[in-house]
Amino acid sequence: MDKKLVVGNWKMNLLREEAREVSGTIADLLGEDYDACQVVLVPPYTALEVVGSRISGSTIDLGGQNVFGKISGAFTGEVSAPMLADAGCKWVIVGHSERRHILGETDEQIREKVSISISCGLKAILCVGETEAQREEAIRRSEDLLTRKKLLFSPIKTQIESALDSLDQKQVSDIVIAYEPVWAIGTGKNATSLEIAEIHQYIRELLAEIFPGLGNNVRILYGGSVKTGNIVEIMSVEEVDGVLVGGASLSADSFFRIINSVGG
Ligand code: PEP
Repeated sequence: MDKKLVVGNWKMNLLREEAREVSGTIADLLGEDYDACQVVLVPPYTALEVVGSRISGSTIDLGGQNVFGKISGAFTGEVSAPMLADAGCKWVIVGHSERRHILGETDEQIREKVSISISCGLKAILCVGETEAQREEAIRRSEDLLTRKKLLFSPIKTQIESALDSLDQKQVSDIVIAYEPVWAIGTGKNATSLEIAEIHQYIRELLAEIFPGLGNNVRILYGGSVKTGNIVEIMSVEEVDGVLVGGASLSADSFFRIINSVGG
């Protein structure tokens, strides 16, 4: 298993000067040789260049927030995997719940995005997770354990099976899965340790079923209202290989503290 991973997703926040300042402070606080865990900053496209140049010479990687499922062409407003790589990205987030639920991205589009990202040499962070209604329905049926588990795991099973459909075992090593319950993203409500452990164990089992020789090579992150106040508890869950952080990554101070808690 690779190092633990801490990904800061800035979403549609920070102008270039602010992005330069936050990324520069994080890079300075960590120092050039930081290697206790892998840190990835994911700014908006407009700030990729300034952040890339501010973190150059550090061990922090750069990532894109989204990618289009074609290499090039007449797709106004979209950004391709080669463009992200050209801008210095090593990583790309695919299937974030805000893209699935606000912008209507489908499992089919997400499969194309994962496939093209991997074939262009990017590492893809595939986000999966259940909605509040899906979790509540599973809880309502909790007197029947099998039905409860089936209902709870089913959205995650569909999202993962569909996204990884065209990949072989070697390509899957370039994937990281982020379990992000939709009800926990940007809401201040994080999943409990037990809830996280249950889904992470399920994802591990599902990967082993689809790719029998894969072992534990794929990191599984937790995301959803990760903060300085809950990071220690989240990282105490054995199955958690790192975190995807939204709001708390916008402040250099809180993101640095989260990184330190993960890196130990
Ligand atoms: C995210 O951006 O994926 C996320 C989990 O956001 P937040 O930490 O703000 O909930």
